[in-house]
Amino acid sequence: MPASLDRRHFLAASASLAALSAVGAAGAATAPHRFTHGAFEISVVSDGHLVLPTAALAGDAPAEARAAALKAASQSGDQYNSPTNCTLIRAGRELILVDAGSGAHFMPTAGKLVENLEAAGIGRDAVTQIVFTHGHPDHLWGLVDDLDDLAFPKARYVVAAAEWDFWHGPNAERGLPSERAGFVTGARRSFARIKDKVTMAKAGDEIVPGVRVFDTRGHTQGHFALEISCGDGLIVAGDALLHPIISFAHPDWRPAGDHEPDVAIATRRKLLDRLATDKTRLIGFHLPFPGTGIVERKDGAYRYVAA
Ligand SMILES: [Zn+2]
Repeated sequence: MPASLDRRHFLAASASLAALSAVGAAGAATAPHRFTHGAFEISVVSDGHLVLPTAALAGDAPAEARAAALKAASQSGDQYNSPTNCTLIRAGRELILVDAGSGAHFMPTAGKLVENLEAAGIGRDAVTQIVFTHGHPDHLWGLVDDLDDLAFPKARYVVAAAEWDFWHGPNAERGLPSERAGFVTGARRSFARIKDKVTMAKAGDEIVPGVRVFDTRGHTQGHFALEISCGDGLIVAGDALLHPIISFAHPDWRPAGDHEPDVAIATRRKLLDRLATDKTRLIGFHLPFPGTGIVERKDGAYRYVAA
């Protein structure tokens, strides 16, 4: 048996013991939220959460209005917890993961996806495709595990051609603030690991019958959301909508994480209008777990109603 397998088995055994004691002590594993949507089985699986500066949510917003919006989300202080929800779509024989989470090297509070999948009886080998909404660390870096092996060894990958091009081009270095230089290095290192298994997609492409990617650029240059047809529809919105109050009541505020703020605002408004008009079900990556709900119009803007 190769040394790396020995090491993996040893670590896996230790991790299971640790997981058992953690579950016993604090109920650490978060069970997926499951529902059916037509012929599709949907599971929202927690990757844990990020700890982020509240100022980054809307640096340019009036202080009083921002404080009120944060209070409405039960957030106060300089930092807040931003949940990270990965979506798993079972479509016949395909098991499609939307975003791979943070992995072991971004934040200690995140990178719980594999643990939560395995606690729910879903093995890493079962995932057949991973579709990335975009190339930020909390969505991409989890494609490798803590041993730097592919976390989902049987998966093929789908990424927007525009997103791939952005992270590999000169604008990634020039266009991002210096504290995000590590995002560029990390995206290139992550993408290099899957370059032989990746399909470049464009808006409108079908992943499997009934599941399509569509353009929601602005948060990043090639940001994709997914639409899953049946009834009033289901949209996996990625980071087009970031916060349960601010993104809906104040879609024109500018979160620091948006690469192209004006484009992100236009995208957000278009998406919110569609969600409210069509009563489409929504899954938001950073909305309070499991991040599923609908959108209603309110006071000239919108309101997120958790399911
Ligand atoms: Zn994110």
